Parts: sequence; C-alpha cells; structure tokens
Amino acid sequence: MAKVVKFGGSSLADANQFRKVAQIIRSDRKRRYVVPSAPGKRSPEDIKVTDMLYSCYDSVGLGRNATAEFLPIANRFDGIISDLGLTISLDDEYEKITENFRKRVGRDYAASRGEYLNGIILANYLGFQFVDAAKCVFFTAGGEFDPDLTDACLSSVLGGYSEAVIPGFYGAKPDGTIQTFSRGGSDFTGSVVAKAINAEIYENWTDVSGFLAADPHVVENPEIIDYITYKELRELSYMGASVMHQDAIFPVRAAGIPINIRNTNLPDAPGTMIVPEAPEGTEHKIITGIAGKKHFSVISIEKDEMNSEVGFLRRILTVLDNEGLGFEHIPTGIDTMSIVVSTEELHSHPDTVRYISQITHANHIEVINNMALVAVVGRNMREKKGTATRIFAALSHADINIKMIDQGSSELNIIVGIDEKDFEKAIRVIYDMFMLSE
Ligand code: ASP
Repeated sequence: MAKVVKFGGSSLADANQFRKVAQIIRSDRKRRYVVPSAPGKRSPEDIKVTDMLYSCYDSVGLGRNATAEFLPIANRFDGIISDLGLTISLDDEYEKITENFRKRVGRDYAASRGEYLNGIILANYLGFQFVDAAKCVFFTAGGEFDPDLTDACLSSVLGGYSEAVIPGFYGAKPDGTIQTFSRGGSDFTGSVVAKAINAEIYENWTDVSGFLAADPHVVENPEIIDYITYKELRELSYMGASVMHQDAIFPVRAAGIPINIRNTNLPDAPGTMIVPEAPEGTEHKIITGIAGKKHFSVISIEKDEMNSEVGFLRRILTVLDNEGLGFEHIPTGIDTMSIVVSTEELHSHPDTVRYISQITHANHIEVINNMALVAVVGRNMREKKGTATRIFAALSHADINIKMIDQGSSELNIIVGIDEKDFEKAIRVIYDMFMLSE
C-alpha cells in the first residue's frame, strides 16, 4: 500500500522547507506519491509564486518584456536549486514559458507553472519520477474536471512508477490547453491521486497542526480536532472553517480513504484525521467544532393561516428560483416563515422581497439584516441529551439574543442565528461551555 502526500506552498517555500519535506518523505517508505504546490510565502510580506505568475502574465499582456518580468520568478526557483546543491538547470523551461507568455497561451497556463517547476525540482531532489499533471489530469473541452478519464489515466501511469511527483493545481483539456482548479486546488489533485492509486491514506501537509475546533482569531489557542468525520468537516467548512480546499474531500470520501492533516514544521504531531466514521473512544466529546459566518439577512414572512395554505413554500421557492437566489435556511413557524440568505446576494437581487410579497399576499414581510450564523457541529450530539440547552444557556448567560434556531435532521449540528455584533462572543461562550468543561 502507498500513501499520497501533498505539500502546500509554505511547506515548499524555500530550500530549508524542501529539506523538511524530503525528511518527512524518507522517514516512511510508503510515502511514494507526492503532490507539491508552488512555493508559497517565506514571510508574511512575501508573495506566492502563483501570484507572481499571474501578475507576470498580465504585465507581458500589457507589452512588458517577458524575460525581464519573469526574472524574479526564475530567481526564486534557481535560489531553491542552488541552496539544495542540485545541478539541474531550468533555463530551457524558463525560455519555453516566457515564449508561451508572449504567445498569450492563457492565465491558467501561467499560474500552473509554479507547481510544474516546483515538481521538477522536488522530483530531482528526491530521486522520484516526475509526472506532468497535463498528461494525466483531465478537463473536458467545456472546462469541467473529468474524474473518470483522470482516474483511469493516473492509475495506469502511476502504476508504472514505484515513486513519483505529480504537480498539483492543474491538468489539461482534450486539445492540450492547460487549465487549473480554483485557488488552493493542489489539495484537490492530492485527493484525486490518492483515489486513483487507492492509497491507504491521503496526507495533507501544511503549516498548522490540524483542523482547529474554532477560529484562532476568535478563540485563544483552540484545541486541535483529533478525529473528524467527512460529514462534520463538510458542515464546518461550509460555515467558514478552512484548512483545505472545499472540494478536496470528495474524491477520497467516495473511496473511503482517510485524510490526515499534518504540519511540515512539527512532523511528530499526529494532526487531524478526517475519516468516514470516527473510531471508538471518541464518543465523550459532544462537540467537534464551532464555526460561523457573518453577513446574512432574514426575510421574515407572516401570514394568517399560512400553515393550511397548500403550495405556500413552493411559491416562495419559485421566486427564489426565478431570481437565481440561493438560501441558507428556511425555519418555519405556524403562520411565519423566515428565509435566511446572504446579504450580498439579496442586494444583487433587489426585487426578490417585492415578488415574494406579491405572490404570497403576506400580511407582513420584512428584512432583518446584520445576522450571523454560528454552527455547533458534533457527531456525538445525537446520543447526548441537553446539547441545545447548554448552547442556549451559554448564550443567554452572555446576554446574547437568539434570532433563529435550526437543527439539521441528522442531528449533526445546531445552527443559531444571532446579531453580528455578538458573533465573536457567542463562539467564545459556546466553546468555553463545551471544550473547557469536558
Ligand atoms: N498554488 C496554487 C494557489 O496558490 C494552488 C495551491 O497552492 O493549491 O492557489
């Protein structure tokens, strides 16, 4: 069995980080397939190579000299090569790339060269085979990722090498045009590679020691989650918690392969395991994590005898559908209904409320702004009584008014709507209530 290891930009930002990465790979012989990002920031003020590539491509489009504009990027890669004491030269590659920049082959091509060049260096340093993602990660002519073709090609190509480096972030369309995934997409490549070779685990190496139980900007020193299920992760990521690209869980999830988030700078820390089902012994924790988002609005609708009016919700949904406005939640009462939507989206569909009013003949309809949603997520809630009571008690002691409550039918999460001004405080008191007392 093999492990797929993906290293993020900060893990490969300079030669010193490359050394750590090589040590991690060499310390476990199963770490045979490696997916690198482009070099990231070496310090908070630094610029990621991917961003340098986008702006270089744009400058060349404005008529600036391609070779001169590309020089700082070439210097970054050459610096890594010489600091590692390697003897390869990427000059021919730089030549080809700048030529393609002049020919305007595309911004995606430009951005992808960070992963491509970094992959060549890493493969050389490790003594692994370099496999260009353009040869085995595919998009359709229309630009959609093609999972079946990619899976078949990756498993046959990688099956031929006992060790390989496959750059993240990009692939190719049938005509060979390079296309990238959205930003942070190397995580997705790692997941696709793990599925293709049926890896025993997908290790995602980054610069934090795992998925945190709350946002560290809100809660001081939050706990690292040891085990989280795919479903819980999905809930927390949707609500704004992030450590990985949102889509990266899907390929491995379908194959039942666990993901392990690890820290390149603290390689002995076990990190977070993202698993289909959490192992026994983790039932004592009611809450896995807390996350939240601001800037929601509530369209609050009141109508006498709404409950007995067949088709009421359908009519509202038709309006939302026609307007192309997505919603987050629709909690309902007997004669009331609230539709929670993103404030920004509501602003870009300004007629929605008027249309709803016309179609429903509501007695009263109003929009309440400045709402925040906080999701308390935990697979063990289902088995434990009193979770909601504790959340509400924590909020009420902190004098926070709850405007909306929603518990998913899977009992995996409880979502509360509160005033934006109480957002940080709410997360802190809920965190304290569950994490500090258990
Ligand atoms: N280098 C790309 C980015 O900065 C992709 C990645 O790192 O995953 O978004």
